[in-house]
Amino acid sequence: MKKLVVGNWKMHGSRASNAELIQGLLAADLAATAPQADVAVCPPFVYLADVADALKGSAIAVGTQDISVQTQGAFTGEVAGAMIRELGGKYAIVGHSERRSYHAEGDQLVADKAKAALAHGLVPIVCVGETLAEREAGQTEAVVGRQLQAVIDTLGAQLAQIVVAYEPVWAIGTGKTASPEQAQAVHAALRAQLKAAQADAVKVPLLYGGSVKPDNAVELFAQPDIDGGLIGGAALKAADFAAIARAAR
Ligand code: PEP
Repeated sequence: MKKLVVGNWKMHGSRASNAELIQGLLAADLAATAPQADVAVCPPFVYLADVADALKGSAIAVGTQDISVQTQGAFTGEVAGAMIRELGGKYAIVGHSERRSYHAEGDQLVADKAKAALAHGLVPIVCVGETLAEREAGQTEAVVGRQLQAVIDTLGAQLAQIVVAYEPVWAIGTGKTASPEQAQAVHAALRAQLKAAQADAVKVPLLYGGSVKPDNAVELFAQPDIDGGLIGGAALKAADFAAIARAAR
């Protein structure tokens, strides 16, 4: 199975810097040089149309960093799934730890966002992950298990259509990466939970995220239950992101 490598641009960029980044990504010719990777980038909402247009016809898909649970109406500041689809979006990240912590998004809201994405033909990338305090208290599997269970209970038969990203909060943007063994152990637990919920969900791609760089991607992606990566900082440099995509074997 191909790996999936997704760039989360967070609140970075400008029209000029995005154009430069995209030019670098297109020049990297990932279809030819990273044939084992499906690749996507998730710019801020306001740049979605520009980025989707610039990448049209390329091997790189686009997505967003969030989605509204609402379909349409008086919901100031929200962006609906139909709007994302109309502009060419394929994926929607939901439950990123920055949204869970800065916007108080809880497990049920995240699950409802995953459902909203599916309702609009988008693939939700559901993020789960523990804080450092939770890891040190031995609660890692309980925390990610609880976060995933809300999604399992909400999606029912649609469960196999999602992507899950394990992102330990202590490894995001910190330069601290989970060791391949630490990541693999959590991925194996998530895989078992998905499979127990629904046999078909065993094939849900499980991405690792948290300071993935060109020099650690090969080892992480070699783990049996790591199906790709969700990349933050390194996704802002075309050469680094391309090198991570090429680490998919
Ligand atoms: C992320 O924000 O999803 C992420 C993994 O960031 P970084 O790669 O910078 O740790």
